[in-house]
Amino acid sequence: MTTYTQLYMDGQWLNADSDASLAVINPATEKVVAEVPRGNANDVNRAVQAARKAFLSWSQTSAAERKRLLLAIADGMEARKQDLTAAISATMGCPQHIAGWLQVDGPIEAMRLFAELTGVTEQVDTVDGALVVYESAGVCAFINPWNYPLHQFVGKVGAALAAGCTMVVKPAEQTPLQDFIMAEIIDAAGVPAGVFNLVPGYGVDVGETLCTHPEVDVVSFTGSTRAGIEVAKAAAPTVKRVTQELGGKSPLIITEDADLQAAVQYGVEDVMLNSGQTCVALTRMLVPAAKYDEAVRLAKDIAEGLVVGMQEDAFLGPISSRAQQQKILEYIQIGLDEGATLVCGGLDSPVVSGSRDDGTGYSGAGYSAPGYYVAPTVFANVHNQMRIAREEIFGPVLCMIPYTDIDEAVEIANDTPYGLASAVYAGSEEGAIAIARRIRAGQCLMNGAVFNYNAPFGGYKQSGNGREFSAAGVHEFLEIKAMLQPQ
Ligand code: NAD
Repeated sequence: MTTYTQLYMDGQWLNADSDASLAVINPATEKVVAEVPRGNANDVNRAVQAARKAFLSWSQTSAAERKRLLLAIADGMEARKQDLTAAISATMGCPQHIAGWLQVDGPIEAMRLFAELTGVTEQVDTVDGALVVYESAGVCAFINPWNYPLHQFVGKVGAALAAGCTMVVKPAEQTPLQDFIMAEIIDAAGVPAGVFNLVPGYGVDVGETLCTHPEVDVVSFTGSTRAGIEVAKAAAPTVKRVTQELGGKSPLIITEDADLQAAVQYGVEDVMLNSGQTCVALTRMLVPAAKYDEAVRLAKDIAEGLVVGMQEDAFLGPISSRAQQQKILEYIQIGLDEGATLVCGGLDSPVVSGSRDDGTGYSGAGYSAPGYYVAPTVFANVHNQMRIAREEIFGPVLCMIPYTDIDEAVEIANDTPYGLASAVYAGSEEGAIAIARRIRAGQCLMNGAVFNYNAPFGGYKQSGNGREFSAAGVHEFLEIKAMLQPQ
């Protein structure tokens, strides 16, 4: 069992205000694997004060010095890749061999990319005689979820360090371990005291105190739309800048002329990866009516071929918590009640372990095995007005929706309160671009593309506001000053 007993703040490991701790459960074994201190409002106050004190000198460090430190952090991550991978695997349930490339390699690359973006604070633009400069925005509060905990950490911390900001970080209560390792790495890299501070705890306690704190200038939040709204409300009286990376219900449009086998494979694997716990997951697959039956057959074969578990050949591990597993199973029941056709997976799958919390129980054969598993589940004959097509399930559940022509496909794709991501699988690049331009979402993956840390990332509509990664991500942590001269 991994135990941390202190919080990292002001460049030191310090005792928390109270003796309370957070128990972290491994979703594959259902056993407690770690304990960390549970911070409270007093800890937040101490951390924010340290960040405020450090801001003046840190924001004046040269771009070259911040670049050097970011690269040192990336090297430290590389050296501790095994620790980071094991921590994420044990707390959120991603099989180790997948967690390495999916959850850790990308964030290391992203940290290196942020090192190349520090120069913006020394940039001076001239507009009609006025000088425009970019200054560090101040003390930042970062609140993260559990599904890609290191990715979300780096998207905020890397960008803010590049921009010369100081920060207090609150990881999700389910996955704090990689943040503790990162605190050790940041400390060893020589980042000055107070620049980075870590306070784990609950959203309603540590999270809310950060959002209302008068000395916090920027809040960057990733999580559910529900909590994102609470965060924005809490931050409003002190007029903080709030960046929100929220939920999604992303469409994949497969065109008539696409390679159907490749497109369906791409779509099914995209949804099932990380057990469907991906904000950008392409959960609505839109297929031409003429190709629909064949696409459903292909999806069934592909989904049924995916191995569930933590072993070397597994594609998807357990769901991160019992609560999430129960929520997903309830959505599968809702889909059945709404009249969608269950193609594979579902409630009776042998991998579904544990009985339903309300006592009615599911009849899955694997009840005795531990782990909060849900089988890769595919629903056909889904209508876009069904709840399973409108609400974020956050599990390995694919909805297949037929369409008659491309105008209808675009209409269905856009008929959602969300606008985080989307994808088009077409027979040509031009065909894909033409459709991508019509979709109201912050990202469109074309013809099998995958996430790119060089590209800006963020949502339209209720998927949030602001951008992460790339130069746009760094700009979220900058103020723009115009210095005007007589003309
Ligand atoms: P969540 O909203 O329950 O929690 C996220 C974080 O917010 C946690 O650290 C939690 O403690 C904190 N929190 C909760 N209520 C709060 C409050 N009132 N004030 C301040 N902080 C509060 O989300 P989750 O279940 O951990 O994560 C899943 C959600 O995250 C999904 O909706 C998913 O789509 C979304 N997500 C979005 C992105 C993105 O980049 N857009 C990325 C990953 C996950």
